[in-house]
Amino acid sequence: MSPLAAVLERQIALTGPISLAEYMMLCLSHPEHGYYISRNPLGAAGDFTTAPEVSQLFGEMIGASLLSAWQAQGQPTPFALVELGPGRGTLMADILRVAAQVRGAEAAEIWLVETSPALRRRQAETLASQQPHWANRLDEVPDLPLFLVANEFFDALPIRQYVRGARGWQERLVGWDSGPQPLLGPELAQPLLDQRFGTPPVGTVVETCAAGEAIAAEIGGRLAAHPGAAILIDYGAWAGTGDTFQAVRDHAVADPFAEPGLADLTAHVAFAPLAGAAVAAGAQASALVAQGVLLERLGITARAQRLANAQSDPAARQGVATAHRRLTHPEEMGTLFQALALASPDGPLPPGFESDDDA
Ligand code: SAH
Repeated sequence: MSPLAAVLERQIALTGPISLAEYMMLCLSHPEHGYYISRNPLGAAGDFTTAPEVSQLFGEMIGASLLSAWQAQGQPTPFALVELGPGRGTLMADILRVAAQVRGAEAAEIWLVETSPALRRRQAETLASQQPHWANRLDEVPDLPLFLVANEFFDALPIRQYVRGARGWQERLVGWDSGPQPLLGPELAQPLLDQRFGTPPVGTVVETCAAGEAIAAEIGGRLAAHPGAAILIDYGAWAGTGDTFQAVRDHAVADPFAEPGLADLTAHVAFAPLAGAAVAAGAQASALVAQGVLLERLGITARAQRLANAQSDPAARQGVATAHRRLTHPEEMGTLFQALALASPDGPLPPGFESDDDA
């Protein structure tokens, strides 16, 4: 049994079945045995690889968009350059290389919102020369003009799942039967779920992510109060139904209820509720843009060509081409990953997020 399994067994014996959100939170963030707390999950030796780990091209494009937004919004200083869930610090390092080319951008206060001590150590190594600050939550970051990025952060936040019944909704809970065991709670009326999902066919699974909506509302409130912008990238869709809860271990899909604490648990991000929460708090939201389309609009192909030409080694040149394809091609990360921008109500959206009518 994994060390976390014993914790879960006790918890469920004590309180009865727990929500999927509690299960995810314990598995990912238990102070001692949580997946993100105890390990360094990213990269070839870890369980999964993310876009910034594929190539510097990703962070350069996203950094250019975010810093253009800063310029277009009047270059407010000082400002907070924030990343949620920075992993190994690679994306922030690439963004800061772009920032070094932008006059005045050295006024940025760099904030990393990260709960994992192991990953904080890794970020401190990557960003040693940049003197970043760390926070556990966005609301601990000073209330400055906010320029924020989050890649594969919202997919790690705890979700709840409900199954449509004949009259109401049954929550999908986690009980215990010699291991974590999914089961269904009683059928209850859930007016908020009716409002959001209507009455889909009996058996339809829907998901909510209250933690994600709360963070989107916090971002939206700050963008309403000061000039700023945010770029959120994750795998998911504008809205949808269905069970997207999954585990990944050793670069392969695993059973999310086996060996709790040893696999990464995620769910697809539904962007509509995030945009809705930010807009309700006073920000504006872009349409959803596929990662491949966004990176093309930001000039990734020309940049990849320049980068490839600068390599003397043919294998390195090929590596740039492979990374470009991996980040943008519809059969790779190009359409699975989607991007949403948020901005202050009267500022422009960051480049790459203009609606088709304005482009
Ligand atoms: N953005 C990085 C890493 C993605 S992995 C990349 O693209 O490579 C998810 C990151 O979010 C990790 O750094 C993890 O420790 C962090 N994280 C997960 N849940 C969190 C939470 N509730 N609060 C703060 N950070 C969290």
